[in-house]
Amino acid sequence: MAFLHTETGNTRLLKRSNGGNMTVLRFGDYIPYNETDGHNDANDHKANTDGPGFAGFNTGDGRIFFNDGTFTGPTAVARTTVHEFAHNWDTENGHFSEWKALSGWQPRYLHVGFVTIDLATQFPLSKDGKWVYSPAAEFAREYGKTNPYEDFTTTFETYYNLKMGLLSYTDLVRLTPKLNFIGLFVTRMSQ
Ligand SMILES: [Zn+2]
Repeated sequence: MAFLHTETGNTRLLKRSNGGNMTVLRFGDYIPYNETDGHNDANDHKANTDGPGFAGFNTGDGRIFFNDGTFTGPTAVARTTVHEFAHNWDTENGHFSEWKALSGWQPRYLHVGFVTIDLATQFPLSKDGKWVYSPAAEFAREYGKTNPYEDFTTTFETYYNLKMGLLSYTDLVRLTPKLNFIGLFVTRMSQ
């Protein structure tokens, strides 16, 4: 949070894009659902599979949750914090179209009149199955291939790594166009 404060010289990145306050909550140990009680078992199984895997998540309504397992070390927590706060600005950064263009993001299904074209027959499919992206696109992490929002937040993690002296030269070269976008966004937020 100090990083987000120092980068802009103000608290805008610590708040919602509408200026609202944020609440940060830490979960305790994951308590599994009963998957065999015949009640909502499929969803219980999915929750048990996915739940412990989350480092953190931003509910989009001013709350950020952290799993207990995220607290492995100061850098991991800081990076997850930067990621989750960055979600407040993934579509709200004022240049979302330009952001999507950097990776060639397009919605998977293109509607032309009464015809629907599945672009996944021509381009790589996103991990969430709702988008396609350019085969030439560079990503900060594999997780960034989930959708344009995770692309933004994982790149923001890389921007943090850069500023902390933790980014390799190879990644710097590879990700320069996206890091420039984040740098310009932070500059706008500083004004
Ligand atoms: Zn995320």
